Amino acid sequence: LDPEEFRRQAHLVVDFLADYYSNIEKYPVCSQVKPGYLTETMPKSAPMQPEPIENILQDVQKHIIPGITHWQSPGFFGYFQSNGSTGNFLGEMLLTGFNMVGFNWLASPAATELEMVVMEWLLQLLQLPKSFSFSSDGGGVIHGSTCESFVCTLIAAREKTLNQFGTKGDMNLGKLVVYCSDQTHFSLQKACLVVGISPNNVRAVPTTKSMNFVLSSRALSRAIESDVKAGLIPLYLCLTVGTTPTTAVDPLEDLCEVAKRFNMWVHVDAAYAGSACICPEFRHFLDGVEGTNSFSFNPHKWFLTSLDCCCLWVKDRNDLKKALSTDPELLKNKASESKQVVDYKDWQIALSRRFRAMKLWMVIRSYGVSGLREYIRKHVKMAKDFEALLCANNNFEVVVPRNFAMLLESLNGTGHVFMTHTVLEGVYVIRVAIGATLTDDKHISMLWDMVQNHASALLAKDQH
Ligand code: PLP
Repeated sequence: LDPEEFRRQAHLVVDFLADYYSNIEKYPVCSQVKPGYLTETMPKSAPMQPEPIENILQDVQKHIIPGITHWQSPGFFGYFQSNGSTGNFLGEMLLTGFNMVGFNWLASPAATELEMVVMEWLLQLLQLPKSFSFSSDGGGVIHGSTCESFVCTLIAAREKTLNQFGTKGDMNLGKLVVYCSDQTHFSLQKACLVVGISPNNVRAVPTTKSMNFVLSSRALSRAIESDVKAGLIPLYLCLTVGTTPTTAVDPLEDLCEVAKRFNMWVHVDAAYAGSACICPEFRHFLDGVEGTNSFSFNPHKWFLTSLDCCCLWVKDRNDLKKALSTDPELLKNKASESKQVVDYKDWQIALSRRFRAMKLWMVIRSYGVSGLREYIRKHVKMAKDFEALLCANNNFEVVVPRNFAMLLESLNGTGHVFMTHTVLEGVYVIRVAIGATLTDDKHISMLWDMVQNHASALLAKDQH
């Protein structure tokens, strides 16, 4: 690595990206390439000789950008956003530039301690209970995804329960049951598979539109009681603050009461909506979180931080460490033996880990708490305005499900916007997720004009 050549090439890449952002609205939001477009174009074998960065960037422009769905486009309203920011990209540059592997404290004290600092800052911002802090028995760790946080907390819960029941002799994995709602993110199902819990032992308790798709404590109690009667053991309850289909918020306090009766681990998945809870007016969505064992949210969704970044706090760090610790000779060192340091390898699945705290720290410092709150509030206001437009328009009261599907295709086909769908009680619903960094009021107006025009055209066609 030649520092001067690195400087020259990196400047070219920064210029390339700055131009990309200047021109992002010129590209169709959802990529319009056909399957195989790249595999058929690219050389079949790797280049034998080094190639200049200029040529490589030309190919990125010509071949890669057409195959990108532009998640950072202001017309991106699909899934949940993965929004970036200048502070985040610079943080990514620094962490990749340092390129170290902070699996334990000694391997890079700054990586471990910055992660602890940032997690304590966020704990305060979200007003999470003191018990989740390093100053008590808890603590926070940055994982790559919510799925990883599910796996790690499930393993911690599994080990805790197996140890508790182990002495009774008749305990086995097949008896453990996980509870969630039918709105819970599907990655919980995969996490259960990973930790050895059969899909037959995952209860997705049904929710209803009349209950705003939240998990009811009565339905949950009934499901648990029936399992207990059958000799099964309730292990883990996953509650969601901001479900993926409709952003429903499960009532934490009531549901924790139920879980307490059965001595279960309670995890809160606030992957998307957790970010909003840094604003005092939205913090009430987390009321009752003190009754849970763990809580996670994804800054890589709505916190100006790019993939990968999921913040997880646990009430008792020993639960995680007991389940996930390794102590190989190769990694033995005085700091770890002193028990005065955190070795994050024991809080996650992999050994190696990225210095993700660097980008999160950069984001928080670059925007400040007030800037971050303002950013969230701006998106919420745009969503409210859009909702008001829809409610005031008769065309959107009753729509045939098939039309919804066609409307979505017709809108996405323009290349100006990209949205995704869900199905609720058999009705096909278009989701408009507002939260891309570059989305502004004018993009919402454009979206509204497009939605009206395309809906009118489709309705007119249907009447003929
Ligand atoms: N939980 C919720 C509520 C989500 O909306 C998502 C993704 O959209 C996930 C979990 C999965 O997150 P990850 O991709 O970080 O595993």
